[in-house]
Amino acid sequence: MRGAPTILHLDMDAFYASAEQAAKPSLRGKPVIVGGLGPRGVVATASYEARVFGVHSAMAMAQARRLCPNAAFLIPRFALYRKVSDAVMALLHTLSPLVEPLSLDEAFVDLEAGGTEPTVEAARAVAERLRADIRAVTGLTGSVGLAGSKMLAKIGSEQAKPDGLVVIEPGTERDLLGPMPVRTLPGVGPATAETLRRAGIHTVAETREAGEAELVRLLGRAHGTSLFLMAEGRDERPVVAERDAKSISVEDTFDVDLTDRTRVQLEIARLADRCVRRLREAGRSGRTVVIKVRRYDFSTLTRSETLRGPTDDPAVVREAAARLIDGVETTAGVRLLGVGVSGLADYTQEDLFAQAAQAAEAVQAAQAAHEAVGDAGPPPGPERPEPVREGAGEASEDAE
Ligand SMILES: [Mg+2]
Repeated sequence: MRGAPTILHLDMDAFYASAEQAAKPSLRGKPVIVGGLGPRGVVATASYEARVFGVHSAMAMAQARRLCPNAAFLIPRFALYRKVSDAVMALLHTLSPLVEPLSLDEAFVDLEAGGTEPTVEAARAVAERLRADIRAVTGLTGSVGLAGSKMLAKIGSEQAKPDGLVVIEPGTERDLLGPMPVRTLPGVGPATAETLRRAGIHTVAETREAGEAELVRLLGRAHGTSLFLMAEGRDERPVVAERDAKSISVEDTFDVDLTDRTRVQLEIARLADRCVRRLREAGRSGRTVVIKVRRYDFSTLTRSETLRGPTDDPAVVREAAARLIDGVETTAGVRLLGVGVSGLADYTQEDLFAQAAQAAEAVQAAQAAHEAVGDAGPPPGPERPEPVREGAGEASEDAE
């Protein structure tokens, strides 16, 4: 937690729709709806002109058509969005070496690491100039939050929408957070929110009042403790440059090769749980589940499955990992097993899990057509630099 609001969060406004409007002048000022146009399609992004009619992300496209029949309905064009995104990210990189993109249109920037003086005035001036530059270069608007932590910067940009800037001055965090829903806090995905709801905890203030001991009882030590700190407004997570945080994985090497199928399945489930714990400790969620299997002869393979949306739910990761191991022959013996999650996002980015899942579904087909490579990070394994691993004692590193 810093004494000056030098952590910046940028979130572009109605990104896909705005990019379409910037690219095609005839669409400007008109309702634009981007998403899946098939019978099961859902809205990925609606322009603000379309939102006036009640259209929003994750809504069934059929309903969007009823609400706003005169809108332009478009399939996502990821090549275009990536180009605009690259231009925006390039502007962010002029501010600091520490830029952490969360998606095509969203990123954290550590202004202090870029030499911005740690004062409200200096940070505000940088943010205003950035917003003007983004508009000049891309024709799009972006909203910015400035705060002393990532959590609050993100809340700030949300409050700033559309086309605004909100500075959350250090010292005001606790009061600001109190009445907010607990889902506002990083580390609270859908599964955690449900656990808390059943315990009668709905707001950040109630999370605080529950106390650390109760949160640890409900969520386990690591998650409970970190959630309590977040509820107090104490978020010390650093801004991490993109390359450093693509995936989280855990693995175990076994003293004796595993040949029993049930034991292999059990170990995979255990690793999946451990991996989700790491994910939650990092305040993140992920979309692609990866398993790694090294066999008796040291041949190593990975299998992955991309979910419909990011998750922090241990059951979901466990099930995906179980499906993946089902397809792998292990009877001759397994030396090492690993489970990883990639395609990471901050929890709060996917504030409405269902929304993200449905939007992802809507764009999946288009994405497949437009992208040679998915948005998932590389699979876990020695070929990936700097994997996040369990501490010593639990996982023994294999010699390779
Ligand atoms: Mg956005």
